[in-house]
Amino acid sequence: MTAPGFDDLSQAFEAWRVVRLGGREYVDAVVAPGHRGPSPQLKHALKRWPGAHYWTDRDRTGLVLVRPVAGERGERWWLHLLLAFVTVICALGAGATLAGVWAPTAELSRYGALGGALLSGFHFFGDVMRGGWRDILPGASFAFPLLAILLVHELGHYFTARRYGIDTSPPFFLPVPPSLSPIGSLGAFIRMRSPVLDRRQLLDVGAAGPLAGFVVTLVVLWLGYSHSEGLTLGAETAGEYVTYAGRHIYLGDSLLTMALRRHFFPDAVAVYLSPMAFAGWVGAFVTALNLVPLSQLDGGHVLYAMFGKRQTTIGAAALIALLLLGQSSPSWWVWAILALLIGGGRWTHPSVLTPERPVPPGRRWIGWACILVFALTFVPVPFVL
Ligand SMILES: [Zn+2]
Repeated sequence: MTAPGFDDLSQAFEAWRVVRLGGREYVDAVVAPGHRGPSPQLKHALKRWPGAHYWTDRDRTGLVLVRPVAGERGERWWLHLLLAFVTVICALGAGATLAGVWAPTAELSRYGALGGALLSGFHFFGDVMRGGWRDILPGASFAFPLLAILLVHELGHYFTARRYGIDTSPPFFLPVPPSLSPIGSLGAFIRMRSPVLDRRQLLDVGAAGPLAGFVVTLVVLWLGYSHSEGLTLGAETAGEYVTYAGRHIYLGDSLLTMALRRHFFPDAVAVYLSPMAFAGWVGAFVTALNLVPLSQLDGGHVLYAMFGKRQTTIGAAALIALLLLGQSSPSWWVWAILALLIGGGRWTHPSVLTPERPVPPGRRWIGWACILVFALTFVPVPFVL
């Protein structure tokens, strides 16, 4: 038994099969030749279908229908809003530190630097509540551009997944106090709670985050670089840097930041990044991190969608490349481990329900766009020590 109104739909089909899984019902149909226009009857019946639908090919032979069959679980909106709010506070603290108008208190602890930073992070929230929030407001020029990039990235995934009828959580933001992180956050993520049906869904959902986030990143970088400062003499580095609580952080280049530096500061030896430019730098860096073609990162989704099982080989190559790059920048070892953990210990991408159905040729450009964005934003040595 399927949805009310399905009888009208099925009259336009030559054949179909119904699969129920993870609270979803999937109908895979071959549409009869007379209805492929689609016919007015089919159009009308599709309007009444209580879920998502899309054509699997250009000549409109195959049609996929998805609808929820189990009751949708209520979202814990309070949790998402609370995490987002605390992340705003932390990112404001980081931004104010970058702007040089505030700094997290340096606590002494007998457990060393990390213990001190944890203690300081704990005190941070108390200070903010006792009126310290006014002092960190100047961090807005860093915090809001950065969080806009992260939010738009996650909403790209979220709305695309919802468009395909996938059960998806709203974004979870991960706050980190400014004494522990110069960006006040560990990023954000969404959870997909029902399976991905085919490679088209996987491509669109995987690509939508980084592509949407990249558009915002470009705007933030452009505005940020136009407010940064080029140094010609007395620079300690050839490249970009920020200061954080009295320390310089030297940043590596992607093709994108290299091009921006040439454009805005053709004569400068080094560039002191404005907080907004640093937000853009982090946005581009996070985009590239997500597009590494490993396991269940966005890049793993896109590559599996485009190349199927060949992702296994490319993923292994990516893993070896990260291990080698880690020799110049150990942060890549951390990322390789995290990526494997996210993928449940595997570098390969798990199959979708219908792996044999390829991405329609007209959509493959989405995958190539991701590969281009990855090439533009990848920073081989992110932090120059
Ligand atoms: Zn993503």
